[in-house]
Amino acid sequence: MNPMPLVLLDLFTIVIFTAIGLSFLAVIMLCIWVGNRRYDGVGYWLTSTLLILGYGFIMAEQLWLFKLDNYASHSWLNAMRPNILLCVAVCLIPHGFHRFLQIKQSLFWLYAAQCLFIVPLYFYESTIEMPAFYTTFVLTVSVSISLIFNSCYLLSYQAKQYGMTRLICILTCVLSLLLNVARLAMLTQEDSFLNCIEITTAIACINLLMTQCFLTFCYLMFCTQRNAFSLQHMSFIDPLANIYNRRGYQHAIAALSPHKEAAVMILDIDHFKAINDEYGHAAGDLVIKDIAMIISNACGSTCVYARTGGEEFSIYSPLISAKAMDNLAEQIRLSIMEHTSTKETLEIKVTASIGIAVGQSVNIFALEEEADKALYQAKREGRNCTVMQLSMAG
Ligand code: GH3
Ligand code: MG
Ligand code: MG
Repeated sequence: MNPMPLVLLDLFTIVIFTAIGLSFLAVIMLCIWVGNRRYDGVGYWLTSTLLILGYGFIMAEQLWLFKLDNYASHSWLNAMRPNILLCVAVCLIPHGFHRFLQIKQSLFWLYAAQCLFIVPLYFYESTIEMPAFYTTFVLTVSVSISLIFNSCYLLSYQAKQYGMTRLICILTCVLSLLLNVARLAMLTQEDSFLNCIEITTAIACINLLMTQCFLTFCYLMFCTQRNAFSLQHMSFIDPLANIYNRRGYQHAIAALSPHKEAAVMILDIDHFKAINDEYGHAAGDLVIKDIAMIISNACGSTCVYARTGGEEFSIYSPLISAKAMDNLAEQIRLSIMEHTSTKETLEIKVTASIGIAVGQSVNIFALEEEADKALYQAKREGRNCTVMQLSMAG
């Protein structure tokens, strides 16, 4: 029997399996989209499913024609022309992922590169000696390349909260890659392409189904985790100052690695009510933002800092000496004093008072209380100064 229809059969089977997988995904995405219109990648899934189904029908028709022709036709590569349809559809899949999940880095161009591999087939159709092998080889290599990139991308993905999902994704990609390599090895080692067409087709189909199911599962988990994460993030961040609020502050402290000694600093803007009264509430908000910025610049990543009240900020630092905390407080206080907030023609200058307590980290509430006492002492001492609770200082 002429080997060409078998190649078509190989492709046809893969296409049908892909279409089934995609339809399954499209239905899931559609359900999610109906529930939450925020996801706009669904259209890409539906389009790619339709394109691949369309491609499947064309292939079926071609196979039927070949059968009628008793496999005598030599223009079988013409049947490959709709490949362009498949390429567009395949490009749309990662683009759908990209839109659906709003992942910054799209795999779109990677899949688009597959078009570049396949398009030359149309120009060399009469000269390639082993077109069947070439087609399979190109498809396998390009899918392998995209899987390598996919794995690298997932490996480099910074978000730690996706740990388990990321691991499953990477394992899936590696397994899929191994199956692809096995397929390619079989194709190159067998004398006749026909000897291994069935087993390699089976490998390709298993690979596609496995990859699609696992990746869908993982990407959906990504979605759920990301939503949960952004909700948690929102509940931890003060929208005005764009730093932690009290809840975020407590959560971040609880998440610190164990430590014995800690220092707490509480900063309160002096006569802030007067600023509001004189320049207006909007100008007051601007001052709060500026001070949050000064604090975050001074603290960097070593401390946990938050806006814990209206015009009150808290800074927590583990394993810091009383002297170092005092220096940090002075640095912040001087920066605030030197800073001018400008709003249109207004120039606003404020000062802040700071209270510090240093002690055992197990008793954070006692530390906060001590720092608060120190702050009120600073206020009593005329404001724009730092007071350290010496009794606690170690
Ligand atoms: P002191 O030096 O004793 O700290 O005096 P103060 O005026 O800063 O203290 P007080 O607690 O009397 O006033 C705090 C003011 O902070 C009152 C409130 O209107 C203002 N405030 C609280 N939250 C915000 C906010 O989000 N935006 C603005 N613009 N003002 C706020
Ligand atoms: Mg105040
Ligand atoms: Mg206050």
